[in-house]
Parts: sequence; C-alpha cells; structure tokens
Amino acid sequence: MKPVIALVGRPNVGKSTLFNRLTKSRDAIVADYAGLTRDRHYGEGRQGAREYIVIDTGGFEPDCTEGIFKEMAKQTRQAVAEADAVIFVVDVRGGLSAQDHDIANYLRTANKTVLLAANKAEGMQDAPQLAEFYELGIGEPIPISSAHGQGIRSLLDMALDTFFGTEDDDEELIEDDTDRPVRLAVAGRPNVGKSTLINTWLGEERLVAFDMPGTTRDAIKVPFERQGQRFELIDTAGLRRKGKVFEAIEKFSVVKTLQAIADANVVLLLIDATQGVTDQDAHIAGFVLESGRAVVVAINKWDAVDSYQREMLQRSIETRLAFLKFAPVLHISAIKRQGLGPLWKAIADAWASASCKMSTPVLTRLLQEAVQFQQPQRGGMSRPKLRYAHQGGQNPPIIVIHGNALEHVSESYKRYLEGRFRAHFKLTGTPLRIEMKLSS
Ligand code: GDP
Ligand code: GDP
Repeated sequence: MKPVIALVGRPNVGKSTLFNRLTKSRDAIVADYAGLTRDRHYGEGRQGAREYIVIDTGGFEPDCTEGIFKEMAKQTRQAVAEADAVIFVVDVRGGLSAQDHDIANYLRTANKTVLLAANKAEGMQDAPQLAEFYELGIGEPIPISSAHGQGIRSLLDMALDTFFGTEDDDEELIEDDTDRPVRLAVAGRPNVGKSTLINTWLGEERLVAFDMPGTTRDAIKVPFERQGQRFELIDTAGLRRKGKVFEAIEKFSVVKTLQAIADANVVLLLIDATQGVTDQDAHIAGFVLESGRAVVVAINKWDAVDSYQREMLQRSIETRLAFLKFAPVLHISAIKRQGLGPLWKAIADAWASASCKMSTPVLTRLLQEAVQFQQPQRGGMSRPKLRYAHQGGQNPPIIVIHGNALEHVSESYKRYLEGRFRAHFKLTGTPLRIEMKLSS
C-alpha cells in the first residue's frame, strides 16, 4: 500500500511548490482530456520503486477571511490523520512565527512521524536562521529549497524510510500475476451503491471475509471465486466491515480511493443512474485514468430511472467520461440483482485485456498491415518509417514501435494504430499505450 505524506504549514511557506516537486516525477498518461478534472491537493509520486501519495493542505483555505484558520485547521487535521508521515514546512526567510508554534504544538499531539522542512534555504544551508527552528521541538530542521529542487530527495527518503524501512531496495518488483486472484476495487462516491453491491455479492457467493491482521489501516480483503476466476475484493474505498456486512463510512476519502485504485488490478467505477455523472464521479474517473488501471464502469440503480433519464445519462457519460472511452459501460441494479453476470464477465475481460501478452511477430505483422492500409503522413521531407513493434509492458499493455522519423507520426495516426491493435487483441477495459522508439 502506498504511504501517504501530508504537507503541513502556514500559507506561503512553499507547500504547493514542494507538492509540485514531489508529484511531477510520474510519467502521466493523461494529456488534456475534456471532462477530466484534477485535484491539485492530492498527487502521486515515485522515488525508485517506492511510490507514495502526497496531500497538500495549503490550497484548502476558503477565500473568506473569517473562519480561515478554523477551516485550515480542520483540513490539516484530516490530512494528518490520513498520513503516514508529515512534512511540516517552515520558511527560513520569513522566520519563525506564532502560527508555526501552534502547528508544532498540534503535531506533537498527533502521534505521527514529523519531518521539519526549512524551505527557501537555497544559499543558506548553514545559516544561523536555521537554528531558531529547533525551538519548535520537532527535531532538526532539514534545509530544502522547493523552488530550486535542493534537499528534496533526501527529505523524501527520510519520509519514505519511516514507511518502507531503510534497506534501500530500488529493484522494481516484478509480480507474476498469473496464479493470483484478480484484485478488484469498487470505487465511487458516497451513495452510489457500493456497499449494497458488495453485500449482494457476499450474499450470493460463498465467501470468506476476513480482516487482514497487522495493518494500521482497516484494510479489507475478501477473496472469492466467480465463474472459475478467483477474485479478491481489496480495501474498498469508503467502506468498512460491520459484522458480516459492509457499510459506507460517513466521509468520502480521496486517499482511500487512490490507495484502492493503486492496489487494484481492475477498478469497478460505480455511477448512480439517478444522479447522472457528477463532478466527483468525473474526478474519481480521472484518478483511475491516471493510474493506468483496467476499469469497468457500472451504472447502478438502473431500476430506478425511466427511459428519458436513461437517455440523458447516456449523453452525460459520452461527454463527461469521454476520456475513459476504452471502458465498457454496464447497467446494473445492485438491489434487484440485475446485470451482475455480464458485470463479472466485463471485469474478467478487462483483466485479461490488461494482462494480454502480445508477441513481437504478431505485433510487427499488425503494424505492417496497418501501414499498408494507411500510410502515416509526411512531415516535411520525410515520411515516418514504422519498422517493427514489440510489447513493452503489461497492466496496462504498452506497444513500442520502432522506426525512423517517428517524431512526425501524428496523434491521430497513433490513435488509428491503437484502434487496429485493440481490435485484433479484443482489448476492452484497459488503456493501451503506444510508444515510439527511434531505430538506431
Ligand atoms: P504555500 O502557500 O505554502 O503553498 O506556498 P507556495 O508554494 O504557494 O509558495 C509561496 C511563495 O514562496 C511563492 O512565491 C513561491 O515562489 C515561493 N517559494 C516556494 N519555495 C521557495 C524556495 O525554495 N525558495 C524561495 N526563495 N521561494 C520559494
Ligand atoms: P455506498 O455509499 O456507495 O456504499 O451506497 P449504498 O450501498 O449505501 O447505497 C446508497 C443508497 O442507494 C441506499 O439507500 C441503497 O438502498 C440504494 N441503492 C443501492 N443500490 C441500488 C439499486 O440498484 N437500485 C436502487 N433503486 N437503489 C439502490
């Protein structure tokens, strides 16, 4: 599970600048998709094989002056509660303030690992100003410069060490997923019917539900089998177990959602038919897209909408979830147990697609056929030459195309190729990345 790092500090000390540093290293597969909203306060990052989630508490202040501190304090407390490590950011140039003391007092009671980052320290690594921050009683101030990228790496290492331990194992873990159950996360905003659906499944199947011991979070893992395929319902966002049934926890947690998505092989995104696609739905869908996970969209409560609403819904999916158009959309009723068979099939197909193996000869033949059928356009004097293709990865599948003058291959031509590959391998429910590599 990815550890969560919360950035805490008074306004203007450089939290968002640090946030951008800590999150920009990911190779985003997301360009500009209409309908995709991003939450700037939650981000993901990676250092070597160690991945993490960052929460920035800075942007939470409401505009009004009144109640700023109250609201900030509330948001900060929530972020700290969700965090595994806290980076308390102070401003070396601005100096120690009363607010820093208040925050420090609070953090000391929070029982979390706290690192004190003395920001804006470019050119003043040994400056006497640093020493005054010892007064906060948080420990040694670690000089960094978020704006200039100094000291960030070792700060991050310290934060991650508290979670992963220090034996710095940068080796990428290669998992063999073939014999493992498919890890499924059910994501969706409150009230879409997540617990109802899961309880329906639990009632239908013979399931063994258990809580994993030894985890700090109330992780839930439920293994079960369906149509010969083994599944594992993983720590599902915003739910907890109460006795034999699941129920929604009162508050929606972005962190839990991100973690569930990160931990999953396939994400089932539930939408409430009676509400249409809301901002929050689009938001969660955006997280799923960024994660590169396989995804199936299920419109729940299909029983409760009339044909007019169904049509409106169809339209809102086409516009607001356009960026997820590789995902199959199913209509279900968790309460009436309708559509659940096809849903399982869609989930299994999505996983099969995401973990699809593609051989170099087949990919190369498909590439050549595609080029024969439609050549890429010239760019200036040269026409791109696409020579051969191989699979560069799974989950999601990556196809690497080798050739020359590849910088001239247009986005629309890439989409054309993607379509041909998708059709041949019958890919559904998974992103497919196409990468171009210059032949040497
Ligand atoms: P936040 O309110 O805590 O999120 O702070 P911001 O990230 O918005 O930064 C506040 C101001 O401090 C901006 O003008 C930044 O450009 C500046 N700043 C951030 N980091 C550094 C740094 O490392 N050195 C200097 N000199 N300025 C910085
Ligand atoms: P969660 O917050 O996502 O776990 O949502 P719940 O499972 O608690 O469901 C929220 C509400 O929607 C409850 O009142 C459910 O009875 C209702 N609900 C769930 N599934 C369906 C469905 O398929 N049809 C209808 N009509 N209502 C449903």
